[in-house]
Amino acid sequence: MSKVIIIGAGGVGNVVAQKCAQLTDIFTEIVLASRTVSKCDAIAADVLAKTGVTIRTAAIDADNVAETTTFLQAEKPELLINVALPYQDLTLMDACLAAGVHYMDTANYEPLDEAKFEYKWQWAYQDRFKEAGLTALLGSGFDPGVTNVFCAYAQKHLFDEIETIDILDANAGDHGYHFATNFNPEINIREITANGRYWEEGEWKEVEPMSVHQVYDFPVVGEQDAYLLYHEEMESLCQNIKGLKRIRFWMTFSQKYLTHLRVLENVGMTSIEPIDFQGQQIKPIEFLKAVLPDPASLGPRTKGKTCIGCDIVGIKDGQKKRVFIYNTCDHQECYQEVSSQAISYTTGVPAMIGAQMILKGLWQEPGVWNMEQRDPDPFMEELNLRGLPWQVIDLPLES
Ligand code: NDP
Repeated sequence: MSKVIIIGAGGVGNVVAQKCAQLTDIFTEIVLASRTVSKCDAIAADVLAKTGVTIRTAAIDADNVAETTTFLQAEKPELLINVALPYQDLTLMDACLAAGVHYMDTANYEPLDEAKFEYKWQWAYQDRFKEAGLTALLGSGFDPGVTNVFCAYAQKHLFDEIETIDILDANAGDHGYHFATNFNPEINIREITANGRYWEEGEWKEVEPMSVHQVYDFPVVGEQDAYLLYHEEMESLCQNIKGLKRIRFWMTFSQKYLTHLRVLENVGMTSIEPIDFQGQQIKPIEFLKAVLPDPASLGPRTKGKTCIGCDIVGIKDGQKKRVFIYNTCDHQECYQEVSSQAISYTTGVPAMIGAQMILKGLWQEPGVWNMEQRDPDPFMEELNLRGLPWQVIDLPLES
């Protein structure tokens, strides 16, 4: 019935391919294409071993619009799932428009040389997707992605008015390395070393990187050190959640991780400015990526759980209340199912669900959409069925 092309054969691409292959009545044909075709082939072999489903593979340079357009015109998929890097978002949106294919991704566009991610570039495609009768769904991972859907669900069912949202992302897993990032190191480190930012009373407020901290008592994983960061879902949520007064994002880090990061930063290893090294221009952060463990290799070693959720305060029936909507995920269980740790799993499963929403026509509407702009209910139902069950708990109001 529906053919999909997955672009990107990293940790997330693997999970998307595995999960799509578990639902062959919806994803009747799957093609996995990426820059390094051998990585696609390795995933395809594992998918075949785990599910008995054959997926085709192809080499593609997603930075090249003409090449990608020709590829899409030949393959004629209904939907392109972009799980390459944020740098490829715009070229892949261009190719989808040229070839008449719906588009979906998990991270917003970031210019390669600016370390700055914003939705403005992708929102600028609104009219073009509308006119072409095509749907573009932005940020269908966990955060952004599920966190946006949690907020939309809270707005629809749990509150008459939402006042504050704190998104909390805890990874209490341990991979046994001194230092490694759970997803693409370049993207991860760029995110953490940037200034923190949150939105309050209609304004963005900026703080020094990792300077605002709280100890948060999470369900299942317990008390964790959480640090205020800027995260992209806040940019759309502050516009789409009615009456919102404040939104912040927090991520947990161990002291060991922060010490390593501080040293790497102090010696210049996290810089994106090219330096001359033995007659060659290299970016220190790209070199760092080359020496750090490949996130895809962490799967078998990582033990423990993640807990990601939204702590929301608002008014229901005239009463103030506070809830936490969350999912917890076990690294080893993910590995058993799809050969990946929970970080890629919690991104890849929502990507597969977002794709389903488009292919089933439930979230198909010409234009460019953030997740909270769609009906949360069918997505929330699928989360429970596809490996990311969620809970809602009431929390005491803070004095
Ligand atoms: P990886 O670095 O593991 O994988 C990226 C893949 O994209 C690699 O296979 C890479 O190819 C491929 N790629 C890069 N450039 C190109 C190109 N020009 N043409 C074709 N293929 C290309 O990343 P992850 O799997 O960890 O992450 C994938 C995406 O998911 C990222 O955009 C990330 O930001 C996002 N993400 C979103 C999260 C969320 O919750 N919303 C959480 C985690 C990640 P090669 O193998 O040759 O390098």
